[in-house]
Amino acid sequence: MIITKPPVLNPNQVLELESIVSEFNCKIQVIYGAHRNIYAIIGDERSETMVNRILSLDYVDRVDRMESIYKLMDVRSDLSNHRTLIGGVELGKEPLIIAGHCTIDPGNGNAFLETAAAVKEAGAHVIRGGVWKPRTSPHNFQGTEESLKWLAEARSRTGLPVIAEVMDEVQLQLSLEAGVDMLQIGTRNGLNYTLLAAVGRLTAEKGIPVLLKRSRHMGPVDEFISAAEYIVANGNPNVIFCPRGTMPQLDGYRNHPDEAITPLLKEKSWAPVVVDPSHSVGRAKYVPACCLAAIAYGADGLVIETHVNPISGIGDDPKQSVTPDVLTNIIKDVRSLWQLKTRWRT
Ligand code: PEP
Ligand code: MN
Repeated sequence: MIITKPPVLNPNQVLELESIVSEFNCKIQVIYGAHRNIYAIIGDERSETMVNRILSLDYVDRVDRMESIYKLMDVRSDLSNHRTLIGGVELGKEPLIIAGHCTIDPGNGNAFLETAAAVKEAGAHVIRGGVWKPRTSPHNFQGTEESLKWLAEARSRTGLPVIAEVMDEVQLQLSLEAGVDMLQIGTRNGLNYTLLAAVGRLTAEKGIPVLLKRSRHMGPVDEFISAAEYIVANGNPNVIFCPRGTMPQLDGYRNHPDEAITPLLKEKSWAPVVVDPSHSVGRAKYVPACCLAAIAYGADGLVIETHVNPISGIGDDPKQSVTPDVLTNIIKDVRSLWQLKTRWRT
């Protein structure tokens, strides 16, 4: 990782760096930060000759090399000062709340607009709505591109940013064209390295925040962090970890709740953690407790499936969406607990 004296290099300086590292079969990946860019060396960066050549450039301050499988995501990396912003919230400063439908029903877009207005009223910062859906059965509703227009409408009516899940590069492009403000990589693609790399590459310049769900069969914490490394190593540092429960499930819940992974993530990495209690426990009545547990473990926010009338919803909404009234109380309680958390940290 090359730390430069000016916060951003000019194109000729980048070309010069590229030319040096290419002699050693490495590449330069620019990671666009809010205040400064980081120039990561991609490849085997062990050559002393290469590092000395780089250090001789007058615009280079230092070169940091780290023995870690996820050099960029490592808590010791120079990116650890990076801050992600979405919906007027700087992650870590106050609890980020993402709320809305599991799935947008294109035949009842008005329900989604009602929910969007209601979650805003409840205090949410970002509106979620599934456009394309990863369904276990190919016979179930798979979502449709048409729903992007409801997402855009919710955005323009509420003024809040919107998030949608993408499962391939076509959906990614369509979402970017529709002005989606935040992207979700779902649990089924949590280890789809080609997609993760494409997301990093195509969102790099705008730095669109990416909520990376934990793959449900994902084992060690390091595997989760390494998955995030694919996005960051392709240019976008605005990655957010999202524990959402793993398999096999805890009897009675949809998955095995894993909000307890939060402190481990924070010990090893710098990226914020936004927990998804809805898919973790999978039943609306258990969601409030899971939200509080996540905040107690140090989560920076929550993504909560919410619907004005859950039983009329589709996808997961009938079983796991809370109503806006419940969301209002969750947000109140989460804010109180956050105050205590601030005390523990100091
Ligand atoms: C969702 O958010 O509706 C979803 C499908 O999530 P996950 O990938 O965690 O199952
Ligand atoms: Mn869902």
